[in-house]
Amino acid sequence: MTVATLADWRSRAEKLHFRDQAFIGGRYVDAVAGGRFDCICPANGAVLTSVVAGEAADVDAAVVAARAAFNSGRWSNAAPKVRKSVLLKLAELILAHRDELALLETLDMGKPIRDSLAIDVPGAANCIRWYAEAVDKVYDQVAPTAPSALALITREPLGVVAAVVPWNFPLLMACWKLGPALASGNSVVLKPAEQSPLTAIRLAELAMEAGLPEGVFNVVPGFGPTAGRALGVHGDVDCVAFTGSAEVGKLFLKYAGESNMKRVSLECGGKTPNIIMADCPDLDAAARAAAFGIFFNQGEVCNAGSRLLVEESIRDRVLERICDIATYLRPGEPLDPKTRMGAIVDSTQLERVIGYIDAGRSCGARLHLGGARARTDSGGYFVEPTIFDGVDNSMKIAQEEIFGPVLSTIVFKDADDAVRIGNDTIYGLAAAVWTRDIAKAHNTARRLRAGTVWVNCFDHGDITVPFGGYKESGFGRDKSLHAMEKYTQLKTTWINLEA
Ligand code: NAD
Repeated sequence: MTVATLADWRSRAEKLHFRDQAFIGGRYVDAVAGGRFDCICPANGAVLTSVVAGEAADVDAAVVAARAAFNSGRWSNAAPKVRKSVLLKLAELILAHRDELALLETLDMGKPIRDSLAIDVPGAANCIRWYAEAVDKVYDQVAPTAPSALALITREPLGVVAAVVPWNFPLLMACWKLGPALASGNSVVLKPAEQSPLTAIRLAELAMEAGLPEGVFNVVPGFGPTAGRALGVHGDVDCVAFTGSAEVGKLFLKYAGESNMKRVSLECGGKTPNIIMADCPDLDAAARAAAFGIFFNQGEVCNAGSRLLVEESIRDRVLERICDIATYLRPGEPLDPKTRMGAIVDSTQLERVIGYIDAGRSCGARLHLGGARARTDSGGYFVEPTIFDGVDNSMKIAQEEIFGPVLSTIVFKDADDAVRIGNDTIYGLAAAVWTRDIAKAHNTARRLRAGTVWVNCFDHGDITVPFGGYKESGFGRDKSLHAMEKYTQLKTTWINLEA
């Protein structure tokens, strides 16, 4: 039952018990070398708990457990209906622990409790449920050969999948990997981001409770250059499913080349152009979507609409409306159910965001709103919703991913100009276009080099559609049945019927 007030959430937080170990082979364990790191609450800078810092030896133990589980066939060879019922149970358990998981997520990474409750936890459960339902609805193929042969084209699980995830949607990103990887019969080693390990550690316990055989799902918290790298170079990991920065994504390609040529799928950053044409059908809706598109989750969203591309004639009206919305999105205490914008994940990211705001000022962009830290007396890491106007697309703030609540406003002349500017970054995760002209919408959408293009909306979608990028936003897709492709491999079995 959801509790309603800030006082209630605070009191629950005080009583919360944190799981803080790695989960390997079906039990919680300390790191071989005994290392731990502090888990900091971004809302006030206080230490929540200390968590096991896994290193190469711990990763190896997790991979060994995952491989043994895979080879046992208890999950990899289980009847589809068995996998389906376990995953359905896991989805149920996630929902049954909604408040606890939401609280862990908010304390750990600073997002508003209302979002953890309404988006992250139900989204995670829905994802697991959707792949559970898919398990017994995906068919293999028979090739159209001559009658003298029967050729089966089947999909088989890969074996051991390493999921390496970021801190902005810790539980949800983990489930985007886990759902299709487990549904396909793989064993998984999950490495949560060091900024936000708590929900992943708890999820492992829920998965066991749901009936997942031991060793099928392991969690190794730890740092990127140690635990993350150890997964990347491990000779017995078959696939790394990574979500994070393009910089680290490239490292995983290198790790694969240096080790066993494991498969790598990369969901990396973005610099989404949100293009509002003068003939936009509903300016209020577009401005509202633009505001939420950059300020939701403190702007720590890979597909955040961080570049507002707008025609000159409507720029002032659009900016005025975005500013109106930004006033009630001002950062607040994340545990307050009324808060719409929470804390930046840690002091490093805070400094990074402030550094970009300084860069925007110094390269000549006009600061239109915000631009400073907020709630400094809390001890936490808050930044005001910030808008720059007069941005040229070549500026640093228009080219680089800030991953914070900072919007760059760029004026364009016509649809061709919008497409040119929209495509002019190294990224290609998502884009949006607002126009009442269906031909212009479609032609623009077709020319935008992005994995997702929204027309007359922003950040819409559900689990049925693939999500992923073009260019340096990565490759491979999360969500939808297409995600199962990256966790399986094709086998041809050619049966000679004339023998
Ligand atoms: P990050 O790349 O720093 O870290 C991501 C993960 O990689 C973490 O688990 C981290 O520990 C690990 N890691 C870091 N350095 C490593 C190394 N040297 N070797 C191996 N592993 C390493 O990213 P972040 O700061 O956690 O997250 C923000 C980034 O994630 C942004 O770029 C954002 O756009 C991206 N992201 C993308 C999507 C998507 O679906 N495309 C979704 C969410 C976030």
